[in-house]
Amino acid sequence: MSRVYNFSAGPAVLPEEVLKSAAEEMLDYKGTGMSVMEMSHRSKAFEEIITGAEQDLRDLMGIPDQYKVLFLQGGASQQFAMIPMNLMKNRVADYIITGQWAKKAAQEAAKYGKVNKIASSEDKVFSYIPDCSDLPISEDADYVYICENNTIYGTKYKQLPNTKGKTLVADVSSCFLSEPVDVTKYGIIYGGVQKNIGPAGVVIAIIREDLIREDVLPGTPTMLTYKTHADAKSLYNTPPAYGIYICGKVFQWLKGMGGLEEMKKRNEKKAKLLYDFLDQSRLFKGTVVKEDRSLMNVPFVTGNEELDAMFVKESKAAGFENLKGHRTVGGMRASIYNAMPYEGVEALVAFMKKFEEENL
Ligand SMILES: *Cc1c(COP(=O)(O)O)cnc(C)c1O
Repeated sequence: MSRVYNFSAGPAVLPEEVLKSAAEEMLDYKGTGMSVMEMSHRSKAFEEIITGAEQDLRDLMGIPDQYKVLFLQGGASQQFAMIPMNLMKNRVADYIITGQWAKKAAQEAAKYGKVNKIASSEDKVFSYIPDCSDLPISEDADYVYICENNTIYGTKYKQLPNTKGKTLVADVSSCFLSEPVDVTKYGIIYGGVQKNIGPAGVVIAIIREDLIREDVLPGTPTMLTYKTHADAKSLYNTPPAYGIYICGKVFQWLKGMGGLEEMKKRNEKKAKLLYDFLDQSRLFKGTVVKEDRSLMNVPFVTGNEELDAMFVKESKAAGFENLKGHRTVGGMRASIYNAMPYEGVEALVAFMKKFEEENL
């Protein structure tokens, strides 16, 4: 068996300890004589899995009691509709457009109400985060929406926007649990887990209680109403049970590593290694303004498409997988999530140095 260094943006690398532990429990989960995949979601064993996972997430993020934690399905993309359906009382929302995911979310919300695009970085291929200290927030906005870490472009908000008292809703799919957060600054924090937490199929939404309402937009399906899932503690219907189980294992792993402060330190150290190399390289360069660089997704180019393609090909042969940039932007992208070890980034930088020497 040999494992590669997997730089995929998602589904992405998971901690080896978690995979090994899941393998050990595959045939017989804790004396139940069955796999978690085969288990009733109403069983005592699964109830312990889901309540344990929620508690560990609450501990890791310091989630206050007045926030609900929901384990949902449909991918982050389903939240693009669920958020306006549940929150658009006035049928108005403000969106900050920092990439494809924010754009898609805004397009979806526009089906339900008036969407004001109050800032955008599209003028420079989303290579920066706009100044959000004094935006024209709409007086009747039901919420202000951001994508906090832009997976495709490699930017991250270092400071949250000044929403002038309006509810902040954030898609944190690709920076979930990468560093500590102050949950109280948000109305909703949500993300698909397949980037930095677990297997595809689970979306976690952390929602302030006052936003969980019965007076959702007319016609909102039961399954797309937050209250349905909040009232049933994420067990209204069969949840993505195995995925939740793996998420729970990752939460345990994060606790064992020392929590989110420690993850932040590790992530900063990993990212610095790669960015420092890019900053002095004569061949490769980063595509994002320095102040807004993501710790998780690092896009870079050589400036020559043929050389980019050669790099992707040669890196794959050397055991570095999924370094090709997103199909809409080209170049390369290294996603260095929590589970990517420091040694993986070290090995990548060494490979890039060698490639540079051979191709300058
Ligand atoms: C991947 C991604 C999405 C889309 O996730 P799905 O689960 O495939 O719907 C949305 N937002 C961000 C920031 C992402 O990285």
